[in-house]
Amino acid sequence: MEANHEGLAPASILVSAGRQPRIPGAGVSPPLELSSTYVADGPVDYARGGNPTWTAFEEALGALEGGSALAFSSGMAAIAAALSVMTQGAIIVAPTHAYSGTGAILESLEKAGRIVLRRVDISDTAAVIAALGGADVLWAESPTNPMLEVADLPRLFAAAHAVDAVAMCDNTFATPLVQQPLSMGADVVIHSVTKYLAGHSDVILGATVTADTGRGRAIQEALAQHRLLHGAIAGPVETWLALRGMRTMHLRVERSSANAADLAVRLQGHPAVGRVRYPGFGSIIAIEVHGGVQGAETVAGTVRLWTHATSLGGVESLIERRRRHPAEPSTVPDNLLRLSVGVEDVEDLWRDLSAALAHLTPCT
Ligand code: PLP
Repeated sequence: MEANHEGLAPASILVSAGRQPRIPGAGVSPPLELSSTYVADGPVDYARGGNPTWTAFEEALGALEGGSALAFSSGMAAIAAALSVMTQGAIIVAPTHAYSGTGAILESLEKAGRIVLRRVDISDTAAVIAALGGADVLWAESPTNPMLEVADLPRLFAAAHAVDAVAMCDNTFATPLVQQPLSMGADVVIHSVTKYLAGHSDVILGATVTADTGRGRAIQEALAQHRLLHGAIAGPVETWLALRGMRTMHLRVERSSANAADLAVRLQGHPAVGRVRYPGFGSIIAIEVHGGVQGAETVAGTVRLWTHATSLGGVESLIERRRRHPAEPSTVPDNLLRLSVGVEDVEDLWRDLSAALAHLTPCT
């Protein structure tokens, strides 16, 4: 693979990274390698340990985040691998409103006596720093899913390192186009590649990216070993599709973010909408609608251009009442709808959403 991306802007990295060396006859796009084993005496002997399609994807994501990437079978597999580096009894500080799957895995580890868990409001910097006393790991997510709280990541990572804790950050929501946590001091970044990176709601994939530091490299080795031994490996087809999707991520994110910024303003003034959560960037909006659970379900069930479905970060706009999921904490309002804004025409999106909202009785 061509490996020098120094000095390139993210858009250029997305388009150019992970391509083959420019030798006559080489494919412009990376190979989709489906072999499970390789002729002996090469760099990799068996495909649970390596695959050229992974390498292409990992090169591109690593260049984008500024570290070394590893592909996993899902975001959850990447999260489980990252958490596996913790020793027995480790103290972990994590957001109250981290992605519900992350919360569930942390709680199961706590229940099994494997970790001590401290949940905090990640946007309350002083509270996070206070909770870091004696901690082994800071798990950050910003903005959080689905409450869209934003953390002061550079300060939190510095505070984690001051107590010698490992700083991990789920960067799925922000994407490396908005923030690159390794450059802010994180040791490990985690992605649900399923979302913005792949971008077309046709792939489940995850990844870790580690810093180019002594600690980062040690974690990278542990993660690679975990992937090899536990076997939560990425499918080559999924990895190839994800890299194909990444080629246009900057264009998708630019358009969906512009759509979301526009819709957030319109929603603010809507009589059937209470609180609007929008961090001022990205393409996720969370709204609390009038009419409680039923009101929220009515909106999700009435839209026609938007799709009532879980997940986010694809080209198509999705809407979902998050408290449908039992793992979602009760501090998430039960009438909260998470909107993943896509790249459709914004006027069409608004017409459809406001028609659905018109079914609700406005609050006076
Ligand atoms: N992290 C965040 C922030 C997510 O939103 C999700 C899924 O919704 C995950 C991780 C899990 O990723 P996956 O569904 O690819 O396993």
